[in-house]
Amino acid sequence: MSSRVRAAIRVEGIVQGVGFRPYVYGLATGLGLDGLVGNDERGVFIEVEGGPGPVGEFLAALRDRPPPLAVIEHISAGTLPATGETGFVIARSATGGDRRALVPPDVATCDDCLREMDDPADRRYRYAFTNCTNCGPRFTIVRDVPYDRPNTTMAGFAMCADCAREYHDPADRRFHAQPVCCPACGPRLRLVDGDGREAPGDPVALAAERLLDGQVLAVKGLGGYHLAAVAGCEQAVAALRSRKHREDKPFAVMAADLAQAGRLCEVGEAAAELLTGRERPIVLLVRRTDAEVAPSAAPGNRRLGVMLPYTPLHHLLLRALGRPVVLTSGNVSDEPIAYRDDEAAGRLGGIADAFLTHDRPIHTRTDDSVIRLFRGRAVPVRRSRGYVPHPLPLAWECPRPVLACGAELKNTFCLAKGSHAFVSHHIGDLENYETSRSFTEGVEHFARLFDVVPEVVAHDLHPEYLSTKYALDRVDADLVGVQHHHAHVASCLADNGVAGPVIGVAFDGLGYGTDGTLWGGEFLVAGLAGFERAGHLATVPMPGGAAAIREPWRMAAAYLDLAFEGDVPASLGVVRRNAARWDAVVALARRGVNAPRTSSAGRLFDAVAAILGVRDAITYEGQAAVELEQRADPAERGTYPCPVTSEAPSGPPFAVPGTALVRAVVDDLCAGADPSVVAARFHNAVAGLVADGCDRVRAATGLSAVALSGGVFQNLLLLERAAGLLERRGFHVLLHHRVPPNDGGVSLGQAAVAAALDRERRWGCA
Ligand SMILES: [Zn+2]
Ligand SMILES: [Zn+2]
Repeated sequence: MSSRVRAAIRVEGIVQGVGFRPYVYGLATGLGLDGLVGNDERGVFIEVEGGPGPVGEFLAALRDRPPPLAVIEHISAGTLPATGETGFVIARSATGGDRRALVPPDVATCDDCLREMDDPADRRYRYAFTNCTNCGPRFTIVRDVPYDRPNTTMAGFAMCADCAREYHDPADRRFHAQPVCCPACGPRLRLVDGDGREAPGDPVALAAERLLDGQVLAVKGLGGYHLAAVAGCEQAVAALRSRKHREDKPFAVMAADLAQAGRLCEVGEAAAELLTGRERPIVLLVRRTDAEVAPSAAPGNRRLGVMLPYTPLHHLLLRALGRPVVLTSGNVSDEPIAYRDDEAAGRLGGIADAFLTHDRPIHTRTDDSVIRLFRGRAVPVRRSRGYVPHPLPLAWECPRPVLACGAELKNTFCLAKGSHAFVSHHIGDLENYETSRSFTEGVEHFARLFDVVPEVVAHDLHPEYLSTKYALDRVDADLVGVQHHHAHVASCLADNGVAGPVIGVAFDGLGYGTDGTLWGGEFLVAGLAGFERAGHLATVPMPGGAAAIREPWRMAAAYLDLAFEGDVPASLGVVRRNAARWDAVVALARRGVNAPRTSSAGRLFDAVAAILGVRDAITYEGQAAVELEQRADPAERGTYPCPVTSEAPSGPPFAVPGTALVRAVVDDLCAGADPSVVAARFHNAVAGLVADGCDRVRAATGLSAVALSGGVFQNLLLLERAAGLLERRGFHVLLHHRVPPNDGGVSLGQAAVAAALDRERRWGCA
């Protein structure tokens, strides 16, 4: 007995609802240790007793090999007198235990569950709702806390005796797996025809048959309905596109496995890891020239968004098909994705020939996440299903709980408390009733799930954003207005756990400036608590206001008129193509009526895209810039000079005239250069002006860290050239890896700014 030791261990972090107790049980009993494990409000508590060797092994294993879904933030261990008790037990949860258990994100089907689904002798053979503690639906089915089955959309399914046995057995993989179910007690698949009648037979086999026949199907997934068509079938994909009223925006494709994905796209090591990871995002990859994908799937795009199956239903369907499917959000045009059955039947009835659906309700609409790869690391384009609501760690505490309301387009909101930031799922563009309601309900849902009562509410400065209006209506909290591009830079700082100050380069579409003009090509000196505008692109008029966003040729007209001082070469294609309205639009720009001035980098990309004949009018946000990037020849290293001048001779902020670049682009084009070469030189020149602007700020401030943020930096060619140039000039470059550089990341930045200001006010330091 004297050789026995007893250790008391406490584990904090994401350790509840992730199979931690059965893992500890298995580990301890495997090492022949006695003791107990339990949950309480702070996390997991453990006592183990036995020989010093096995106890040490236990501690090492706990640290080095925790269960896959756990995130350990802190482990502490102390000693207790040995008691001589034998056996290992799972202690009852203390009152309130589990209450604060963080709701985990949805997790892709694990290998163990897949093996059961493949085993004809298993009771879950080919069962489309198989899940366990290590995988399955989570965030999308949670209605309330504590995270227990009655508070999920599985509440209506009473567990059968077999499932209940697994659920209560600490040695079982399904111990306390809230959505556990089987064919005897769980949800059921159905194939429903356009007339609302259920088709007799195996729903998966029927769905596959119809897809192979060229039909468009609505498929109920984890966070909403998808629309599906066989990816190689042009007739089906074109039908899907026209019925959905989506003209050009690329569709994503689901492949059965890595091998199938590899026949569609170049899949490197980092891409393979992302594709097979438990979050299962859509990864944007370079498409193989011989890929069997219908031209309508991603028109004019060198890249393709690819994902692998993440629910048992997807696995079954993709195997039955034997080929990839287009799988795109179940909606018409820009509406949010349909997720309730009645709503889906109504909204998608005119698009889908049939519905592959089921009776497990979806509580929270959650779109697929989208990732690009830069230097082998993820750059999120949309952070949603699989990642949300996993908290992002904040490097500094929030004195009081914060709600940040985000921007207007690609909206997310963020709740922050202590040192955790809960960035919401992708809400979408706050332009209609549906998304506004998703926003309001989402805020309430998150506040309840994470027990956050906001005392500080951060918002954009734009008075017309619905998210701003929502914030201004909150009378129960202190309001903090955060400038849009400061929020972008702060979000990059928070993403990297850095406080600044840094040189923040925020290049995007449009954001409201502190002077009431539209910013978007900004050089800031920024920390979390404040910023100064050091420089920006010289302002140009946007003739027609919002019309200039939809019609990039209008920006070309404004830029060309300034660049050539009214003497625009009439031979230019963009002038000839838009001759009928050219003079009127130029006049609008000159008069400055309905032509707000902007320093936006996105609008400069638009202008050049139109000049190069890439696109005069767009059908989705950012399209002209996306296509300009694709057009550019990545091998081209030439560039154009773009002198940094000062708009106000007395000093900052300096201005960089985009007109110099536009003039160089036109001269090059008129001299016979290929548009793909000109597009590349333009990218290189913008990278050059970013680096020159940073040089200038460094000379004035001594700062040498640069944060690159804003939607324009989703352009990987620009990002590569700008980051490379900055690094060669000795700058330390910070990029986004956890939240998107686009407006989807703005809420995190707002929260970081509001918390820093609160720290300053309450604690006297940011
Ligand atoms: Zn599983
Ligand atoms: Zn069952």
